[in-house]
Amino acid sequence: MLRFILLITCLLSSFSASAFELKAEKVTDNIYALVGEIGPRNKENLALNNTLGFVITKKGVLLVGTGATEEAAALIEASIKKITDKPITQVVNIGSQDHHWMGNHYFEKKGIPVTALLRTSKTQKAHLEDHLKRLDKLGLKHLAKDKIQLADKLIDADSYRFSFGKTDFELRYLGDAHFPNDAILWLSQQKVLFAGDLVFNDRMLGVQPHSKTKPWFETFKKMTTLKPEFVIPGHGHAGTLAKAQKDTGDYLQWLVTEVSKAQEDWEELDKTVKRLSATTQFDHLKFHKTWNPLNINRTYLQFESE
Ligand SMILES: [Zn+2]
Repeated sequence: MLRFILLITCLLSSFSASAFELKAEKVTDNIYALVGEIGPRNKENLALNNTLGFVITKKGVLLVGTGATEEAAALIEASIKKITDKPITQVVNIGSQDHHWMGNHYFEKKGIPVTALLRTSKTQKAHLEDHLKRLDKLGLKHLAKDKIQLADKLIDADSYRFSFGKTDFELRYLGDAHFPNDAILWLSQQKVLFAGDLVFNDRMLGVQPHSKTKPWFETFKKMTTLKPEFVIPGHGHAGTLAKAQKDTGDYLQWLVTEVSKAQEDWEELDKTVKRLSATTQFDHLKFHKTWNPLNINRTYLQFESE
């Protein structure tokens, strides 16, 4: 009996160690979201607690985002291979956070070009050391700092239209979001938006020390004017614009409005955090209990320093 229990325990633990899967979810013809963990990052999920994506074109696959490490990049490549035989032939970076770009080296060493806006690469560089420290804390293997590569084609503009494999793309900076200088990739014909960390679906977004709530909300509003039919977020499952509005836009609006009101009424920080944390409006978002008080706190301090 003991042996049997030990065997089951072993099987279960080996199952959980290899259970992470980066799922390719079809958004529309030839366009897929690569949905990672909705929960927190860890060693097993290779810090892929985010969403990437790809477009199958006549010239091969255009990949949006490369993961945080070489191992993550290899998993991304393998996940795409399950869907198409076409090789990855172009990569685009839209995000500044590690899991959106730090796997670039894996593709660049194969001669696959990587494109980004120059402004995005500046934020990537500025946060590189912090990102590496975070990966170290999780015990994740990564390249040395000087081996990690930015995109090899940097666009010194806020908008870059290009055609790849008979598909039209527009890489754009709409304004700061989760990180300063995050960009989006827009496919106007298919009405598909790779929104990156401008949109968090299914889980509550995180206002980090470098995120600015008001500009993030302004950028979100600008994004809605594109009227995308499909939004592939930086975290969570792809969905409609209405879903992005419900999970990100409404929450940002609520934060901006409620924290501004509290400050107009001279309510103290701890009282504001306590009162507003009691809302049930965002209970459908994972981690609202942890993130909402933090987000209220950081937004309050931002507004106070304005
Ligand atoms: Zn992210």
